Amino acid sequence: MMQTKNLKIEKHTSDGSGQLGCLPFSGTQDQPMNIPLLDLKAHHAPIKDEVLSRISEVIDCNAFAGGPFVESFEYAFADYCKVEHAIGVGSGTESLWLALLAQGIGPRDEVITAPNTFIATAEAINFTGARPVFVDILEDTYNLNPDLIEAAITPKTKAIIPVHLFGQMADMDPILEIAERHGLFVMEDSAQAVSADYKGRRAGSIGHCASFSFYPGKNLGAFGEAGAITTNDTNLAQKIRILRDHGQAKKYFHSRLGWNSRMDGIQGAVLELKLKRIDMATARRREAASRYSEKLSTVEGILLPSEDRFCKHVYHIYSIRVTNRDTLLDSLRERGVGGSIHYPIPLHLQEACQSLGYEKGDFPIAEKCASEFLSLPMFPEITEEQISYVADTLKGLIR
Ligand SMILES: *Cc1c(COP(=O)(O)O)cnc(C)c1O
Repeated sequence: MMQTKNLKIEKHTSDGSGQLGCLPFSGTQDQPMNIPLLDLKAHHAPIKDEVLSRISEVIDCNAFAGGPFVESFEYAFADYCKVEHAIGVGSGTESLWLALLAQGIGPRDEVITAPNTFIATAEAINFTGARPVFVDILEDTYNLNPDLIEAAITPKTKAIIPVHLFGQMADMDPILEIAERHGLFVMEDSAQAVSADYKGRRAGSIGHCASFSFYPGKNLGAFGEAGAITTNDTNLAQKIRILRDHGQAKKYFHSRLGWNSRMDGIQGAVLELKLKRIDMATARRREAASRYSEKLSTVEGILLPSEDRFCKHVYHIYSIRVTNRDTLLDSLRERGVGGSIHYPIPLHLQEACQSLGYEKGDFPIAEKCASEFLSLPMFPEITEEQISYVADTLKGLIR
């Protein structure tokens, strides 16, 4: 007889860093509200029916791996980012990796990036065989400090990956100027910055190429894993297209060894639909950020996120800085506020990066920020009431 196993499927929301949290509940007397870091259910509620009918079209067309729905999204996304080409791939991590491979980066090369990013940036560099080289960040924007880049350049350096952390773009002009002087490739890690601006230019349109993540918790999230590369370089775009599809431009004629990293048809269809709402979602995030900043500006001991005058910040993460962060985070969670930390350990101090030979103290600004960052609930659907509850709870705890 066939055994059936009862799988208990717990509902969860994803908080943008791969962690799972609980759905919001209506609250108790001790805990009047429960506000998740990210409420995907609220985000998807208004589009769920439309999404289901799009998914049903994909099923009817058998267009599951790459295909017309992905291609249609690629055109729409390139247009949105104001670039010539967008190439849809399996994840943000793969978009970083494939772009570096297409550029010919490999063993014995060095790639400069920031230490305060998600591990994927370093993983992608490492998976080409190259070595990640970290450079410290600016204390106001938390992005790569252009003044420190040149000291890290060696004859082996081939590329720079500025990470647009939390949704604010790095200071691209000086970075590009340094790259040009040294003949280096620049890829924007735009995973957190879809729809952000720098001096009127869109994230993804400034470097030689840019990588995007459509992980469900990102500002433009798929219904599963997905990513993309944007570029104005037709030659590079063609190389990436071939690499993501087993090194073939024509079926079963392989010009090189590639990988399987085609975007799912379902993700292409969902993303094209969600792209139509990204400007509205970004406007709401910016509005929520300014409400937080208004309410928290008078509280001593909190450092608020700052928006560079050249930038339009899209607040993928709204992260404040406080000195007693760990106890504060515990207390917030006890009171139903889904805070988090992006990221608690800078990459150069991660166990996985030990062989790179860095030590504590090598990147003092990134280390200090990592010990103080505290991300507050942020999503387009967050209500005035929820923002007030978070701000009031925080005020009460700090006093
Ligand atoms: C999310 C993220 C990635 C990786 O994207 P995945 O789609 O999760 O593979 C890379 N870099 C940064 C900065 C990210 O936030």
